[in-house]
Formats: sequence, C-alpha cells, structure tokens
Amino acid sequence: VIIGVPREIAPGETRVALVPANVAALLKKHKIELLVEREAGLAAGYTDSEYQEAGATLTDRATVFSKADVVLQVQTPGSNHANGDQDMALLRAGQVLIGMMDPLANAKFATKLAETQISGLALELVPRITRAQAMDVLSSMAMLAGYKAVLMAASESNRMFPMNMTAAGTLNASRVFVMGAGVAGLQACATAKRLGAVVEAYDVRAAAREQILSVGAKPVELDLDTGTAEGSGGYAAAQGEDFLKRQRELMTEVIARMDVVITTAAVPGAKSPILVTEDMVKAMKPGAVIVDLAAERGGNCELTEAGQTVTKHGVTIVGPENVPATLAFHASQMFGKNMENLLNLLITREGTFELDFEDEIVRETVVAHQGDVPHARLRGLLG
Ligand code: NAD
Repeated sequence: VIIGVPREIAPGETRVALVPANVAALLKKHKIELLVEREAGLAAGYTDSEYQEAGATLTDRATVFSKADVVLQVQTPGSNHANGDQDMALLRAGQVLIGMMDPLANAKFATKLAETQISGLALELVPRITRAQAMDVLSSMAMLAGYKAVLMAASESNRMFPMNMTAAGTLNASRVFVMGAGVAGLQACATAKRLGAVVEAYDVRAAAREQILSVGAKPVELDLDTGTAEGSGGYAAAQGEDFLKRQRELMTEVIARMDVVITTAAVPGAKSPILVTEDMVKAMKPGAVIVDLAAERGGNCELTEAGQTVTKHGVTIVGPENVPATLAFHASQMFGKNMENLLNLLITREGTFELDFEDEIVRETVVAHQGDVPHARLRGLLG
C-alpha cells in the first residue's frame, strides 16, 4: 500500500499528520511506501531531509494525492476549513482518507465521501477504550490546549501567578478556576499549579473530583444533582437548561473571587454549554481573564468571540482557535504517534490495508466505505 502525507492547507494549520519518527517506524514494520509532500513538516519543525532519512519519498502535492492509496491529514475537508474544496478535488475514488473531519457536527461529509467512493476514518470517533488510548488524538490535543490556555491567561493577566514576598510588599498568588476537568482541564490545573497559582476546578462528572485532587487543585462543590452527568466513554452527557441555569447561579459567587477562569467544557457533537453568562462576567473583578477553550464550538462564555481577545465589563476574554497548532512540534509528535498506532492496526506486515469491521475501533471510526455510511450513529444524525 502507498501512504501519502500532504502538507496541511487549512488556514493557520501548522501541524503535520506524521513526523519522521513515525515514517521510520511504519516502514520498519510494514512493506509499504510513504510519500510526503515537500515541506509538509516544516511549519511544525520537521525538515524534508529528516523525512528523507526516515525513508519517505518526497514529492509534490498532486503526486501525493494521485499515487497514495491512503491519505493522512490532520484536518481533512470535513473539518470545514476554507481550502477544503482544493483537497476534495484531488481525492479520488477507491482512496482511504484518515484524519479529523468533525463527524458529529458535519455528518454530511460522510455522505460526500461515500458518494465519491472514498473510505473515510474520522479520528474524533476513536472509541474511549483502553486499547485505543494510544490512538486518541482528542486526548493528545486537549492536553496541549490545557497547558497553553494557562500560558495565554498568564500572559493576559495583570498579575503574577505565584505568591512573592518582596521588599516592596507581598504579592498574593493568582486564583485560577478551571471549569471542565477532563483532559484539557486537568492539564490546565497542573500547569497553573506549577506557575504558583491557587487552583480550583469543577466538573459535572463525579469521577472528576479525585482527578482534580490528584493534580493539586481544589474541587469546587456545588449543591446540584449530577446523577445523570456521566455519559458514555467518560464523556459528559448534555444537561438540561434547568440544570445549567442553577449551575450558573451557584457559580457566579465562585467566579467573582477569581483572577483567571479557564473553561474547557465540551459535550461531543453538541454546542458547548454556556457556563459563564454576561451577568457572571459583570460580577468578576476588573482585570480578570477568561480563556475559553470551547471558543470553536460556540464557547462556554456568552461573551466569547472565536478567534478574538475582547475586553468586556473590564474582563479580558480570550477565545483561541486551534490551540494545538500553536504547539505544532509536540502536537504533531503526538498526532503522528496516534496515527502510527492506528495504522499498525489497519496495515498488515505484508503491507496490505484492511478494514476489519469485527474490530470495535474500525467499526466506530469508519464513516464512509464502499459508497456507504456504515456508521450507525452518523446514519442516525443524517436521518
Ligand atoms: P471533553 O473534552 O468532551 O469535555 C471536557 C470536560 O468538560 C469533561 O470532563 C466534561 O465532563 C466537562 N463538562 C461538560 N459539561 C460540563 C458542564 N456543564 N459543567 C462542567 N463541566 C462540564 O472531555 P475529555 O477531556 O476529552 O474527556 C473526559 C473524560 O474521559 C476524562 O475523564 C478522561 O480521562 C476520559 N478519557 C478516557 C479515555 C480512554 O479511556 N481511552 C480517553 C480519553 C478520555
């Protein structure tokens, strides 16, 4: 089989789907050929000569798309970026496309692939089972985003994070509050803690409490019934409007004490829940900072503007997009390793590509195959 890695063309996308170490490992394990577009890794800090030394064949974009049986991307056209049509025009029948394609928000892309006789594997759908953990790009990228969110907050804040006793008086440590203690939130807690802040965190899932404590933060308890908060696979279930309203009331007081609020709450396939309303922002200290990691999905704060940093009611609200791309070297290293692990499952030693639908990972991840959308959940979304 021939695997192709084109350069990413989504605006602002600096990552690459495989790094040279993955190329070397895959070529060692399987009888395959690996085509990499020239300068595919450059924006992430990986040079053409490193890919070449790892055994890849460097070529132009058109050749990668025309020769490859399997095309690997970070952002496929399914992630709805401005240049998606350019890739769509190059993809051809019989090809396999593996990458991020926002399947739950953009189920129609699966139909589009099926109509074009392209097989699509959506990395967002890799199931949350132990065996698939090493293929889970959402966890990898969330970890990086959680770290970077804290640095963004620290950079926007008019205070230092650590406590300091100086000849000019004592500087109090910043109070940081993390909403949503999943992968991103826990990494944010740990990072803020390392910078010396006093960190508190909150999540609807009861299981998060222990995890918050384990990274040195204090869990915030609200008088709320969270019995139904745990969805499947460790994800949160969507909550009703009554719950969210009560949650916001109780949260207003908590937030008013904070210097920094980092929000990371997501519900797969749904718009992000609003956790911070305009009234809650009004109750915050002037100079406080909110970093909203859910900005791309509508935001956890009502006043977030995706891709912008705005100041409202004296509070700076940062709504970053594609945060992992700001850490492109490590993001690509993790993404590439996740991709390598998935490919090891799909390619035989002899170098043939096989989709074994008996395997849960394959069944959950394939959104289009042989002109069909075999994925039950996506078919449900398509109606
Ligand atoms: P996510 O990105 O979907 O959501 C982030 C967090 O927001 C979650 O913890 C969620 O509970 C929380 N949240 C949702 N609505 C909220 C609300 N109204 N108020 C407060 N918080 C809210 O989730 P994630 O970080 O990708 O993962 C969540 C969990 O799944 C973690 O505990 C993680 O350890 C687990 N996980 C397991 C595997 C595996 O077993 N293979 C892989 C990845 C993650």
